[in-house]
Amino acid sequence: MKIEGACHCGEIKYEAEVSAEKVMVCHCADCQTFSGSAFRVIVWVDESNIKFPSGKPFEYVKIAESGNKRAQGFCRNCGTGLYATSADEKRSRVYGLRVGTTRQRDQLVPKRQIWLRSRQRWLSNLDSLPGTEKQQ
Ligand SMILES: [Zn+2]
Ligand SMILES: [Zn+2]
Repeated sequence: MKIEGACHCGEIKYEAEVSAEKVMVCHCADCQTFSGSAFRVIVWVDESNIKFPSGKPFEYVKIAESGNKRAQGFCRNCGTGLYATSADEKRSRVYGLRVGTTRQRDQLVPKRQIWLRSRQRWLSNLDSLPGTEKQQ
């Protein structure tokens, strides 16, 4: 399916062709740090299926436990994280796009989870917490 997205300030825009089957939740510690939240929701997209018609993401490179270099693309102006991809010149750039930045995020439902080892235990209790439709 075709999706489009942007960072919060709108400086960086992207268009991509993704499979709704390739959506997952990552519970790794780095995703928790980068997002400032409990997990990140990602959809995989090949380099050939994404373009950035406006703006240029800044890339921060992190070294994974495995030694792999991962570039974290974000907007330098508003700080929105847009994707992670390989920072190794020899590897193709498969993007792990942040689903929350797409306009079609309601249609991208996670199909699997990874890094359950560091998953926050309270996630399974969310539905039982009291809540309000908007900010209280
Ligand atoms: Zn921005
Ligand atoms: Zn992760």
